[in-house]
Amino acid sequence: MSDSNAPAIDQILNILKTLQTDQKQLAAAVDAINGRVNALSDIKELKDNARPVAPVRPVLATASASPSQDEGAPPSEVQVPKRASSSTTSRVILTTYPGQGGVDPVVMNWGQQDPENRGPVVVGRGSTTIRRRNAIGAHGGSYSIYHALALAINELKPDHKPDFTNTEPAATIGPFPQWYDSKKIVAMDPFGHLAPWLYKDYIDKEGLEIRPTIAITKAHMKLPEMEQSVREGRLKVDGKIVVNESGELAVTKFAVEPVWYLPGVAERFGVDEGALRRSLFENTGGSFPELITRPDIKVFLPPIGGLTVYTFGDVKKMSDPDAKLALRVHDECNGSDVFGSDICTCRPYLLFGIEEAVKEAQNGGSGVVIYFRKEGRALGEVTKYLVYNARKRGADRASEYFKRTENIAGVKDMRFQALMPDILHWLGITKIDRMLSMSNMKHDAIVEQGIPIYERVPIPDDMIPADSRVEIDAKIHAGYFTTGKTLTMEELSAVQGRAWEDVDH
Ligand SMILES: [Zn+2]
Repeated sequence: MSDSNAPAIDQILNILKTLQTDQKQLAAAVDAINGRVNALSDIKELKDNARPVAPVRPVLATASASPSQDEGAPPSEVQVPKRASSSTTSRVILTTYPGQGGVDPVVMNWGQQDPENRGPVVVGRGSTTIRRRNAIGAHGGSYSIYHALALAINELKPDHKPDFTNTEPAATIGPFPQWYDSKKIVAMDPFGHLAPWLYKDYIDKEGLEIRPTIAITKAHMKLPEMEQSVREGRLKVDGKIVVNESGELAVTKFAVEPVWYLPGVAERFGVDEGALRRSLFENTGGSFPELITRPDIKVFLPPIGGLTVYTFGDVKKMSDPDAKLALRVHDECNGSDVFGSDICTCRPYLLFGIEEAVKEAQNGGSGVVIYFRKEGRALGEVTKYLVYNARKRGADRASEYFKRTENIAGVKDMRFQALMPDILHWLGITKIDRMLSMSNMKHDAIVEQGIPIYERVPIPDDMIPADSRVEIDAKIHAGYFTTGKTLTMEELSAVQGRAWEDVDH
């Protein structure tokens, strides 16, 4: 009985084996199809620009207490209004991943000399550009938010192609060896002023969005203080730099937007790149998830203010080791710089810097003023005014000056000058003959970058407004450079600012 059954069992076992093999093959085939479907859907997500916007279901959306919930709508569905334009993707792309279907970043080798090997900075989100991005963030620094607003309200067409005719730099600069040193330039794109022309093929053949992050122009500037300098004989009219008796100045200006090479920025601050990325992600409300999901992308265009270089005289003199260079590095203080507030030395020092820069240029050297958008020690005006209130409501003493800021902001300064010297490297500056600044932080950051400073020039005493003695004496006590006296703590407590006047007459 058992013998006669044996072949049948063998047969059944064979059939089972075949079935198992078939099932494995089938499962593999299903997996493969799944993979292709996923890849196709990823490409579709990145490329799809045809469908009108319908309710979307963001992958990471969580239930929120919105009124629509009470009306029975699924909590994770977000109603997105229809757009007039159809060139955006129909689904919200929350983030991308390396190797994801359709993701194909343009080559980016930071620090390479050959622009083609280096690659353009590609950060646009247009339908042809998005899958080729090699940078996180958006163009325009802090103005990227206004750009987003213009798109949201349909003032700006998503498929707008900029016409760069006649926008080329108004002065030639470089190239300098510093441009190809990934340790020396980490916070701006050394090819940023030439991007649309260097990478024309990417624009013409692939339809990619490539924008300049630096622009160079020429202008005249007119300041009442410079007219006074001419009248009082401190500045001479030469018709070229000081154009006329009203103190009009001829200037070449460079506007620079921030472009960060994250490994280089992390190294400059002595932190781990991962820790930097995580902090930037978490403390911007999760605005840039690719900081976490795209470790393969190393370039980030942060939503912060940039800088402007004002240079007097021949632009080429900045990098000439035989020509003297006078430099003021100035951080924005709108209240003083523009509106003449007398609580600090900002506008007087800025104007002293401009005057000295002009004199150096007139003497055959070069004069440079660099203006950074770092309002209120990069703490912003709200914090700044809170500090003013705390100072004026207490006894406004120099000895308490930094403590007031620290109590409110937790730190006395967030300007962190470590990235500032990049612009000096980019301009080809290899030494500074006259540094028109007393800041030890600026001095140390520049010297640490291998650029020697031969002379430091403090603001002349007669240019210091009375009410700003509190600030300048406190700064000198804390390490600012002076050729005068550094006050003791006891003397500092005697330096007091003006109290608020009673305005209820
Ligand atoms: Zn100021």
